Amino acid sequence: MAKTDGKNLKPGTRVVTAGRRPEWTGIPGQPGRVVSPAVWRASTHLYEDSAALADGPKTNEDGQFFYGRRGSPTQWALCEALTALEPGAHGTMLYPSGVAAIAGALLSVVRPGGTLLITDNAYDPTRSMGTGLLKTFGVETKFFDPLDLDAFRTLVAQGVQAVFLEAPGSLSFEVCDIPALAAIAKDAGAWVLIDNTWPGPTGLHAIELGCDGTVNALTKHVGGHSDLMMGAATGTERLYRRLRRTAQQMGQVVSPDDAALALRGLRTLDVRLERETQSALAIARWLADRPEVETVLCPMLEGAPGHELWKRDFIGGCGLFGFVLKTRDADARARFIDALDLFGIGYSWGGFESLALPTNPAKDRSVASWPPPGVDPACTLGVRLSIGLEDPADLIADLEQGFAEMERA
Ligand SMILES: *Cc1c(COP(=O)(O)O)cnc(C)c1O
Repeated sequence: MAKTDGKNLKPGTRVVTAGRRPEWTGIPGQPGRVVSPAVWRASTHLYEDSAALADGPKTNEDGQFFYGRRGSPTQWALCEALTALEPGAHGTMLYPSGVAAIAGALLSVVRPGGTLLITDNAYDPTRSMGTGLLKTFGVETKFFDPLDLDAFRTLVAQGVQAVFLEAPGSLSFEVCDIPALAAIAKDAGAWVLIDNTWPGPTGLHAIELGCDGTVNALTKHVGGHSDLMMGAATGTERLYRRLRRTAQQMGQVVSPDDAALALRGLRTLDVRLERETQSALAIARWLADRPEVETVLCPMLEGAPGHELWKRDFIGGCGLFGFVLKTRDADARARFIDALDLFGIGYSWGGFESLALPTNPAKDRSVASWPPPGVDPACTLGVRLSIGLEDPADLIADLEQGFAEMERA
């Protein structure tokens, strides 16, 4: 809605208004008469005459129809909405998955002979991108402990082209000092990207904290209904120019049908995250008092590791957190998870339904220690919960009967 552009709106309002340009939300001759943009399925661009065809390349500008691969008003509305949610951003590119967005963003900033620093708590496919594809392109990847600023400074001094952050880590949930890491990297002339999937596009203003851009797996919070795969990279003008060129050369596009689903999810993002956060906090507090639990990994929780940085830098929370069991018996953990009735067992997260997943972050790290300092090193059996929109009292009752089943050896 162009009328509201430039106003200092809160995220809960912006998710409702952003991207609803009258020319994208109307019927012919009546702009702005429909709430959401139509699903514009389109490949071919028809030209008026030969002269217009010869002028065709001039229409490869954002917001002009060029060819289906460059999107239609449905995808543009989603891009504009995501850009509007990230202060300091100039534009957004869409990708068929979150992993594709990570790949598109990294390929936009690294060059053969360059060094990429990836946080040690990064999502596993991000690590594989560095040690796999990028390696074959002559990029060297090094991992760093996100909580050790001095070691990071030393690595940066050895030369760096780009830094990739993730906060909190989506398995281990430690929160790094984003502005401090970004400032060190920026001083060395490096690009700084962050996987923003945990906070989502409303929960962290990463560019204001010093990053050049953010990557979001829209599959998670924005889709919100476990029926969509999509990713986005949002950046400053300098980064966006690179993202756009790389995505065009790689032929990345998402379908208008999927873009419409993502936009629909986005409109209720704020209220879903609010509810998930409140439920997750109630469940995390309950777990912290349980005798079966060694430690709760939830930076939203008062007094938990990372809470102070989370409170300082993040605007919102979400339903994803973890805990470590006291038991060293993997079968006991399996009994607990298998006994859960309201929690599905599965990867992914951010849907309306709750999920549980056994985790062992140690196997996806190379420099930062696991379990974290202060936790008995023999306790390595983790569980990750994605709290959905069910009533938290029912979820707690379900976890309680799961623990009873676990103890029934
Ligand atoms: C799921 C996830 C991704 C990848 O998203 P997909 O759409 O599943 O490819 C990236 N980063 C994080 C932190 C994730 O949890």
